[in-house]
Amino acid sequence: MSVSTVACSTPLPVLGRDVEVPLADGTKVGYAALDYAASAPALQRVWDDVAAYAPYYGSVHRGAGYLSQLSTDLFEQSRATVADFLDLREDDYVVFTRATTDSLNLLASVLPSGTCVYAFETEHHASLLPWRREGLTVSYLRAPRSPQEAVDALDAALSVAPAGPKLVCVTGASNVTGEIWPVRALAETAHRHGARIVLDAAQLAPHHAVSVRELDVDWVAFSGHKLYAPFGAGVLAGRADWLDAAEPYLAGGGASRTVAREADGGVAVEWHRGPARHEAGSPNVIGAYAIASACRALTETGFDALVSRERELIDRLLTGLAEIPEVRVLTLFGTDHERVGVLSFVVQGWNSSHFSAALSAEYGIGVRDGLFCAHPLVRTLLGGEEDSPGECGAPEPSLPGERSLNAIRVSFGAG
Ligand code: PLP
Repeated sequence: MSVSTVACSTPLPVLGRDVEVPLADGTKVGYAALDYAASAPALQRVWDDVAAYAPYYGSVHRGAGYLSQLSTDLFEQSRATVADFLDLREDDYVVFTRATTDSLNLLASVLPSGTCVYAFETEHHASLLPWRREGLTVSYLRAPRSPQEAVDALDAALSVAPAGPKLVCVTGASNVTGEIWPVRALAETAHRHGARIVLDAAQLAPHHAVSVRELDVDWVAFSGHKLYAPFGAGVLAGRADWLDAAEPYLAGGGASRTVAREADGGVAVEWHRGPARHEAGSPNVIGAYAIASACRALTETGFDALVSRERELIDRLLTGLAEIPEVRVLTLFGTDHERVGVLSFVVQGWNSSHFSAALSAEYGIGVRDGLFCAHPLVRTLLGGEEDSPGECGAPEPSLPGERSLNAIRVSFGAG
């Protein structure tokens, strides 16, 4: 098996292209970052925007000084930029969070008591687990083998769902297979049965335009650090009603409109409506500004250009892997199905952890091995239900040559 590097033009210049890393033999080589699904490198432009703003940042919504006002304006403009990027409906709003995991936990915290949640077992743990809390019931749907099977399974489950509030949680693009899910059809099915739907766009938004209106989803969540911005900020956006009706996700300053002492010694609180209700504490203005900068860069470059560049790279990867008989690409819907730049595989006779370590040590290629925080899905795709090392990225204990309990993931973008 040989590995060749190919010079490529990039519609989106990212940081770190020139980083050199040491190989096992002591030489140095240019790093090939192929783990964008975990965290994509920041765009040069995002970095430049943040650096230009850094000397001016101040507290948001809290100060009378010029820099506080400037920061408040930039924070609110960033919110408006994200709303445009997601093509939100008029009454929807954007809450800045820490990342997708935080966004989905926030949503879980505001669901009306008694809500039945439906999620495919193929989800990333961030969209699989937050619903397991008091007052909610969760139904996990088995891994479908085609997009139509997914729609039919949801239709069947919702047909026998109890009356009352219902939420469907679906991932736009799998962080394991990269396959794009039939979000519009699932949203139509959910709404036909009176359910709402949240889209986990952590992997979709960096690669494809996400229009809340066109997809007709009720909420969408994504992370800045997968969208070519730095760590620390994410988004939950969508319908206001459940967000405004619930207790704040975090109690504290910024979320409260007034707090008054009561005769019995307690305090009465009136909470804000709108994004502030769930953004207690000093917000991450730099993170929000960086996300907005990334949204502008992606929009200006145009998703058509990004998708076509990525498709080229995906085709090249799939063609190359198909030439290696030992490689098995993991897929639910088939390798011809539309995907983003994320792909997992196993190599017969190789331990995935050792294989990934060798790619790093011998070629300077950074991939990921493990179960990718989607244990049920990866185990289904590997064809085994047995226990394997639990934690994300935990090293595989088996020896080379044994059947793989982990997989190898390659992921990239147009940057
Ligand atoms: N959803 C999907 C599909 C993901 O791939 C990830 C992270 O890999 C998450 C949610 C969680 O994102 P974060 O770790 O930024 O909260």
